[in-house]
Amino acid sequence: QAQNERESLYIALGFARDFFVKNLQSPEGKSIGLSYFKERGFTPAIIEKFDLGYALDGWDNLLKEAKSAGFQEEILLKSGLILQKEGDASRVYDRFRGRVIFPIHNIGGKPIGFGARILTKDKNQPKYINSPETAVYHKSDVLYGMYQAKKAIRDKDNCYLVEGYTDVVSLHLSGIENVVASSGTSLTDGQIKLIKRFTDQVTVLYDGDSAGIKASLRGIDLLLEGGLNVKAVVFPDGEDPDSYSRKVGTQAFQDYLQENSRDFIGFKIGLFQVEFAKNPIRKAEVIREVIQSIGKIPDPIIRSVYAKEASTLLEVEEDVIHTELNKSLIKTQ
Ligand code: ATP
Ligand code: MN
Ligand code: MN
Ligand code: MN
Repeated sequence: QAQNERESLYIALGFARDFFVKNLQSPEGKSIGLSYFKERGFTPAIIEKFDLGYALDGWDNLLKEAKSAGFQEEILLKSGLILQKEGDASRVYDRFRGRVIFPIHNIGGKPIGFGARILTKDKNQPKYINSPETAVYHKSDVLYGMYQAKKAIRDKDNCYLVEGYTDVVSLHLSGIENVVASSGTSLTDGQIKLIKRFTDQVTVLYDGDSAGIKASLRGIDLLLEGGLNVKAVVFPDGEDPDSYSRKVGTQAFQDYLQENSRDFIGFKIGLFQVEFAKNPIRKAEVIREVIQSIGKIPDPIIRSVYAKEASTLLEVEEDVIHTELNKSLIKTQ
């Protein structure tokens, strides 16, 4: 029964993906959606690789098309493609309207949900609308782009982690295929386990704004706790991997990643560097910050390697690091 329902959802979601892809080539899709993608530098090949599409403006384009193809309303509701009107559940309408579409694939390449970006500057509308949680889309177990990235992640033995859909697509355009997005939410254990199926090494490339840096710090600790080796790159203020790669070009972008990848200790020291040069109290905070992260690492041998590195970089006795580390380890037990 549950298995049958999931099958029906996959079929409906596949149908919707095809409809969105087709509509990108319609007169409305071309003039609004396709021209938007072109402005962002997306090529026909990359549009095809990611099944990018367009949801026509209007309340029931998908609904009508799906119904006449024989899909029941119940399945369309359960797939998250349509919504019930508030206060009148008998009226239903399309969730995605007048937006470009980023299908979210499972690891086998089937669409399980969609992200949809607005094309106007209307501040009253959310920039992205995403599919809800459904029987086939468990958000906490999915990373955007994993289907397109998994082989490259294994080959390169590294996974770039970005915030957004467009960052994933842009990195592919820059020749970097081992990239997935957390889609603007906090990382989960399920997502970390998913990465671990392919590699033990993650490089965090979050947006160069205060939200991105905060999310990096949180993400790094979660990844360390999950037993992964973590690096991070900071982008100039206001840039994300998509905007920065387009600004400087493919080669300079790749060089930037090479030159600015730091392990988590270097990353944390870098963040606070300017201040702690002149303020000893600030430096104590950085030391505690770094030790706190080292304390997340489950493997005691790796932990002691990082303790040594921290001692050198921060110019504190290794004994002090170990004493603090033991305190924080006792606290978390
Ligand atoms: P763009 O370059 O198109 O403006 P972005 O990916 O840089 O998009 P961010 O604002 O950096 O957008 O957000 C990162 C990610 O967070 C998005 O790709 C999307 O997955 C998610 N997100 C952003 N805004 C929303 C929103 N209003 N509702 C739901 N998810 C969102
Ligand atoms: Mn952002
Ligand atoms: Mn961004
Ligand atoms: Mn962006």
